[in-house]
Amino acid sequence: MDARYRTRDIERRSLDVDALKRSFLEWLVYSVGKDARAATRRDWFHTVALAVRDRVVDRWMDTTRTYYTHDVKRVYYLSLEFLIGRLLTNSLANLGIIDECRQALDRIGLSLDEVVDAEPDAALGNGGLGRLAACFLDSMASRNLPGYGYGIRYEFGLFEQRFEHGWQVEYPEQWLQFGNPWEFARPEVLYPVQFYGRVEEFRDSVGERAYRWVDSERVLAMAYDTPVVGFGGKTINTLRLWAARATRDFNFGHFNEGAYMKAVEQKILSENLSRVLYPNDATETGKELRFKQEYFFTSASLQDILRRYLQHHSDFDQLPNKAAIQLNDTHPAIGIAEMMRLLVDQHAVKWDKAWEITQGCFSYTNHTLLPEALEAWPVRLLERVLPRHMQIIYEINAKFLNRSSARAAHDNARLSHLSLIDERGDRRVRMGNLAFIGSHKVNGVSALHTELMKQTVFADFHAEFPDRIVNKTNGITPRRWLHQANRPLSDLITSRIGEGWIHDLSALDALKPKADDVVFREEFRRAKRKNKKRLAAYLARQTGVEINVDSLFDVQVKRIHEYKRQLMNILQTIALYNDMRDSPTVTWTPVTKIFAGKAAPAYHMAKLIIKLINDVGKVVNHDPSVHDNLKVVFLPNYNVTAAEIIMPAADLSEQISTAGMEASGTGNMKLALNGALTIGTLDGANVEIKDAVGDDNIFIFGLTAEEANSLRQGGAYNPRDVIGANPALKRALDMISTGVFSPDDPSRYHPILQSLIDGGDHFLVTADFEDYCTAHDDAVALYRDTEEWTRKAILNTTSMGWFSSDRTVGEYADEIWGVKPIIPDEGDHR
Ligand SMILES: *Cc1c(COP(=O)(O)O)cnc(C)c1O
Repeated sequence: MDARYRTRDIERRSLDVDALKRSFLEWLVYSVGKDARAATRRDWFHTVALAVRDRVVDRWMDTTRTYYTHDVKRVYYLSLEFLIGRLLTNSLANLGIIDECRQALDRIGLSLDEVVDAEPDAALGNGGLGRLAACFLDSMASRNLPGYGYGIRYEFGLFEQRFEHGWQVEYPEQWLQFGNPWEFARPEVLYPVQFYGRVEEFRDSVGERAYRWVDSERVLAMAYDTPVVGFGGKTINTLRLWAARATRDFNFGHFNEGAYMKAVEQKILSENLSRVLYPNDATETGKELRFKQEYFFTSASLQDILRRYLQHHSDFDQLPNKAAIQLNDTHPAIGIAEMMRLLVDQHAVKWDKAWEITQGCFSYTNHTLLPEALEAWPVRLLERVLPRHMQIIYEINAKFLNRSSARAAHDNARLSHLSLIDERGDRRVRMGNLAFIGSHKVNGVSALHTELMKQTVFADFHAEFPDRIVNKTNGITPRRWLHQANRPLSDLITSRIGEGWIHDLSALDALKPKADDVVFREEFRRAKRKNKKRLAAYLARQTGVEINVDSLFDVQVKRIHEYKRQLMNILQTIALYNDMRDSPTVTWTPVTKIFAGKAAPAYHMAKLIIKLINDVGKVVNHDPSVHDNLKVVFLPNYNVTAAEIIMPAADLSEQISTAGMEASGTGNMKLALNGALTIGTLDGANVEIKDAVGDDNIFIFGLTAEEANSLRQGGAYNPRDVIGANPALKRALDMISTGVFSPDDPSRYHPILQSLIDGGDHFLVTADFEDYCTAHDDAVALYRDTEEWTRKAILNTTSMGWFSSDRTVGEYADEIWGVKPIIPDEGDHR
């Protein structure tokens, strides 16, 4: 190789400060096209990102080549959502060059923090489900597991939330507007995806019945790859996102203007497929475009997986030993039928063999038991959009039901539960059932959730396949959620036990004795206070509300949903406000209630709850009679970047869902890891957090899942009686209903009161209210005992080792995927 190029190549990969600085200056001019005088912060972000990307590319190719050469088994994580957030700090930290980069920028007169702040937040997801997928990518790469993410490159991510007069208003999130320096477009990686048309039966070359899908419309899926940098920079995996492109079948050759414009319209319509993320969390709205998105990315991903497999193999027998395909919820569950179609129709594999291969490859993660969130697509829609898949689903169903024990027992009720088709009303395909029978393992995301899966939605399947359902309690990546987001605490931990915890979070155990060390407690508090100051400044900038850094930061940040019970929190806030006004001479512990979270745009009740919180804030924050002892702040536009500022600063973590309704939660883990004490119900992973941190270091209240269920089933529950017996609750509700918080529209909140009082209070807000208030009082009382609070906070942080997504992903790898770590071979560049 030409020596001049060689030097330049080494320069491009060098991690030292001067080389970084030279790279930045070169990239700014030759790639961004600006000089230092004219460059904006965004230009500098693009510059730094591109220079950092250079440092990743060789190792990325090494990783990919190693997987290829050794023909290793890979995991394919199919997810309609990846809630990634920013990547610059993540890449720098995982490469271990944050300080070098900071110094290099210093020498140019720039601040790394400002450059970092110019990166848009990649919000290709709604909430927990999408964030889990992002944490898994980080953990797979950091554990040197051969893992690929597959999803959609939405042009518009989750909407931007703003408040106008306290109401949520949605704006489009144009995260790609200025380009995305992390991605590599792969215009040559292109797969056709079909829709509509009809199925033709014919005789194949040996005279057997076969099918072909004809007269369909075609869209192309084009790949965009983003490198996923593992901790230590050894393994660089790939996130492959698909964008819709029109096929060249659109005939632009017409000289007829009408036909030409029609062709252009068609092109635009087909490219709409990857335009926008559906903003619903845990609800399905049954829109055709959504269904087409699901099939689009699933089909493209499976075609890509088979293409890669066929580079080394000439039949499909080894596929289950080479590809583990994980379905993140049922969104990609149509993949079961698509895999059968690809194998049987396109590759002439016999049905039974194809089914064995399919089951060997697929596994499915269930994320919710809420009936409104279980996907069930109308048979008529499938017949129209994917006619061949509908046939295949009927065939799978017939074979499955024939062999089921329910058929043998002539148990028709059980048969109808097991069926892939819901025959009640308009006939629908149950995607959960399809995912279940097409998978070798099915998992829940916390111990409680998995148990409830066995007892409720999948009870009949569990009887049929008692070994199929397993638990994989969720986790979070300690890199992003502690090492990067909370430098003060991260540095403190490292000062005592070294850096090992960053890739083995269980190392935090060794710090538990430090809870009794007065010096460590003082340092722990100092770190927390630093984070609280940062959050206070951020809130002041974003909302104009000034808060007391020494108050208890009481945090509920997550999607707004009735089952998550932000309503119960704001009712308790009103009760506390009343107590403070009633007893002005008492020395109150100052409390700041911090809320953040988006509501689905069509979820009117959730949006009304946002407005209520903002209305309560307006009254409370301006009432001099509470002497700044209480503040209510709702931070708009909750996303990963906001979470990274909030989590490290929280004192109290609100995890107060109606028991049995939150599958796991991961916000609960981020907050506890950052030293917040949890106030929560025995729901989702709260149960396991309680076991890990100990009963004395968490505030548990309220009904259990079993109690909640029997209370509702019993039919004797009357919220009116509960309210009547609780003067504080009654007073809070009366204030809302008489317009104390909405003098401009006193009846504004009647739908909320209605749902509690006459609507049966489905989420048991009134049932749990008293117990919640008591737990809250206990928390506030403890907060006055600074040393004792700090001791418990330290025990929270140090007990969270098990909740690393490294542990979760390791369990999937061993027990579901059957994949092993492999350290990439180094190319000749080192
Ligand atoms: C972690 C996270 C969530 C999930 O929070 P839960 O409290 O588990 O619902 C949602 N959104 C963002 C931005 C997150 O970082």
